[in-house]
Amino acid sequence: MKKGKLIYEGKAKRVYETDNPDLLIQEFKDDATAFDAKKRGTIKNKGVCNNEISARLFGLLDCRGVPTHFVKLLSAREMLVKRLEIVPVEVTIRNVVAGGMARMFGLEEGTTLCPPVLEYHYKNDALGDPLMNEYHIFALKLAEERELKTIAKYSFEINRILSKFFDERNLKLIDFKLEFGRHRGKILLGDEISPDTCRLWDKATNKKLDKDRFRRDLGNIEEAYQEVLHRVLG
Ligand code: 5GP
Repeated sequence: MKKGKLIYEGKAKRVYETDNPDLLIQEFKDDATAFDAKKRGTIKNKGVCNNEISARLFGLLDCRGVPTHFVKLLSAREMLVKRLEIVPVEVTIRNVVAGGMARMFGLEEGTTLCPPVLEYHYKNDALGDPLMNEYHIFALKLAEERELKTIAKYSFEINRILSKFFDERNLKLIDFKLEFGRHRGKILLGDEISPDTCRLWDKATNKKLDKDRFRRDLGNIEEAYQEVLHRVLG
């Protein structure tokens, strides 16, 4: 697969064209940002960890009937993916109160949410990804009703599959963010699933093994990503 033109460079990834117009190469970087890119840094080998973790989780979801953009791993930092027209809505699923939800409602981190909470955020860095609901999404014509229904259904299904998968590896899936896109008329899961986009706590100790170690200067950041990789592949 020939690596073509760079078509997108984000905070954590680069995306390249290939000789097949339907397929792209997604390359994972070690760069880390937080708080709308006000905080910047590098996490050694984060790109390698996130590529391998995402590949394993996308493979699992595809097997369980949730279609993703993942095609195959190409190298330590690269995966081949289907080209998507991204729906500019980020879906967050929360099983336990943390981060943005703790701030928004003045709640204690660590409180279990039953049933889990689904949030939509407008994918717009300049605006700080504001919270939105179905009415905003339809009025702004970001997705059709049947598309959003599919996105919500897949999101809860992903939560069920991944919560069980991580639980078996002594990790609690606290919350995570998903992005979806359109490919040949179908909704597919895109982007990545990694410690950059999920909160994962050790089941026994509640130790944070995700990007919060970078956001909150908790130290041992590289070790946390390696630990998650080890448990996911183990
Ligand atoms: P919160 O809204 O609490 O900040 O984030 C909820 C979950 O979604 C966390 O697992 C967080 O890592 C993920 N998340 C939300 N927005 C973003 C984003 O813009 N980038 C990344 N990497 N993760 C996000």
